Amino acid sequence: MTKITNIETFVLKDTLEKSFFFSQWEYSERCICIVKISCSDGTYGWGEGYGPALILESGIKFLKSQVIGQNPLHNEVIWNKMYRKTLDFARRGVLVASMSAIDIAIWDIKGKLLNQPVGALLGGVHRNYVVPYATGMYFTEKDNPTKDFEEEAKRYLEKGFKAIKMKVGLGIDRDVSNVKHLRSIIGDDIKLMIDSNHAYTYMEALELAKKLEAYQISWFEEPVSPEFYEQYAELRQKTTIPIAGGECEYLRFGFHQLLRNKSVDIIQPDICACGGLTEAKRIASLASTYGVDVVPHTWGSSIGLHVALHFISNLESVPGRMFSPDFLLEFDQTENALREQLTFPILEMENGIIQVPDSPGLGLEVNPDALHKFTNPTNGVVDIKELLK
Ligand code: MG
Repeated sequence: MTKITNIETFVLKDTLEKSFFFSQWEYSERCICIVKISCSDGTYGWGEGYGPALILESGIKFLKSQVIGQNPLHNEVIWNKMYRKTLDFARRGVLVASMSAIDIAIWDIKGKLLNQPVGALLGGVHRNYVVPYATGMYFTEKDNPTKDFEEEAKRYLEKGFKAIKMKVGLGIDRDVSNVKHLRSIIGDDIKLMIDSNHAYTYMEALELAKKLEAYQISWFEEPVSPEFYEQYAELRQKTTIPIAGGECEYLRFGFHQLLRNKSVDIIQPDICACGGLTEAKRIASLASTYGVDVVPHTWGSSIGLHVALHFISNLESVPGRMFSPDFLLEFDQTENALREQLTFPILEMENGIIQVPDSPGLGLEVNPDALHKFTNPTNGVVDIKELLK
């Protein structure tokens, strides 16, 4: 029986050619933490966490003692060991994301050991492709935030995207003007979602939603701060725009809060943060009992994208019917070399879809040259500002 023998972490960083911002802060670099877990028989797997990379790395090191020596086929047992080790002080937040990275790498190993893609191991592949939507339309210059708006929107249309998610959160008047402008560029046939990254109070979010109802908005993501479950529910009652959220939520217990409060029409767990594939599968089951759609949040490298592809391939259609709706993948289009260079294969949209990999595990290999290029050695000296990136 093979056992887990080693856990290595890598903090990867890439400085952007052009920074961009949204309602909360500015991005001038991409920084993520990935993990490689190796076994006694030489099998290894890759995982990724979503959150501040250096804190994630510390969390993975903290959890190491619960994982080394374990049988990777027993992923739920390992998950439970990690959960019990952190339960008293970290039922939400970065330590859960560290658990997620480890859990994902173990699924990759499990797939390789059993010679099956992760989607098959999750219970089977309902669909072998997903329909990506473009996440973009961030803001470029402080004094002219939507300067590159038109060129960007046209690029997405040329690539063949049928759905675009744009940022809002600059203030109601500017948001309404920007949505109106983008809708005029993309026409009525392209789905349009908005995301304020919880920039608004309840009253502001309600006012914005009412003013945007005429623009065929497919969902309003994170209108208010994620802890205000009841405000989400009230918004749902008062606007015809579907409400989405969950990228800041953790574990099935957190998602149960969103679901039982009737807070959202669509839940968006980030598999690299919410507890990994093991917990995301449970969250999806829970959502099915409330008839709520699941569209996972993604942001980091191509490892996280592969994880989401397998997860979506296994999502149950609720309700089932002959002509199933498209299952959406969040496909970030902002500058990110870690999405484009870190792994083989590079995930690309063709004819409006992305195929789900069918090779064992996650179906990826990390490019050693890219790993070397983007690895950021800390030498044990950590600046507090670096910790929070
Ligand atoms: Mg979002």
